[in-house]
Amino acid sequence: MPERPDLEHQVPIVARRLVGATITAVRVKKPVVLRAPVATDVLVGRTVRDVRRMGHFIAVSLDGDWDMVIHLMLAGRFAFVRAGTKDSADLAVAWGLGDDELRYRDDVQMGKVYLVPSGDYTSVPGMLPVGVDVLGPGFTPAILAGLAKKRREQVKVFLKDKNTFDSFGNAYADETLWEAGIHPKATVASLTPEQLARLHGAMVKVLRDARDEIARRDPPLDEKVRDFLAVRNRGGEPCPRCGTKIRSAGVHGHDAFFCPVCQPDEKGKGMVDWRGVGK
Ligand SMILES: [Zn+2]
Repeated sequence: MPERPDLEHQVPIVARRLVGATITAVRVKKPVVLRAPVATDVLVGRTVRDVRRMGHFIAVSLDGDWDMVIHLMLAGRFAFVRAGTKDSADLAVAWGLGDDELRYRDDVQMGKVYLVPSGDYTSVPGMLPVGVDVLGPGFTPAILAGLAKKRREQVKVFLKDKNTFDSFGNAYADETLWEAGIHPKATVASLTPEQLARLHGAMVKVLRDARDEIARRDPPLDEKVRDFLAVRNRGGEPCPRCGTKIRSAGVHGHDAFFCPVCQPDEKGKGMVDWRGVGK
């Protein structure tokens, strides 16, 4: 799933090609991804004014009455191709741009393409409010401490709340908690002021380092670079810090990867097998 560092690389690439371009055709091959109260023909002849990331969503502003919002979810990806290029089996929606096409591909069809009235994102589930910009100057340890007050969920669930933070998915939430030395199942209420301060530092460092690394590598639009991650999807591999085998545990229906030594549980029992605990 593309997360903030991926989107911060991809969205400017899409924007450079799309802003100022006029949509000449729309082809919908997988209607299941579409959330549109009007026919997509309404986009034809419209010029793209702005493309920007809003949390995990991509907002495309057009002249006229309708905007688009795209959520890539698990497997959505973009590609620019010459018009007339053979359709791939996973093609969901294609926007004609004269001689070229922007294609939205999604082989599990979990992503969504919304048509919304201009500037009105209230009908897009989960999009608003966009959480605090973790890489902005306003995100201080005191702000994090304030947001953590009265939160009773597990810290990984808290991190992934996109209406609270802009923004963490499974991968960078795991990386952040490893960086901070906090167990993914620890409850927010149990975190000490010292742990919260470490969490703040890790949130900023992990997202900033990932953004910088992806910018340095400059992958193509449809490629996600994740090989520099420390624990995510590395079950059984040695922790880069202490050498202990990385483990995984279920947190609210999603896998969490962590080091049982660097990230001890609330009782300090580092070496227990967490799989199945709390289900
Ligand atoms: Zn470790």
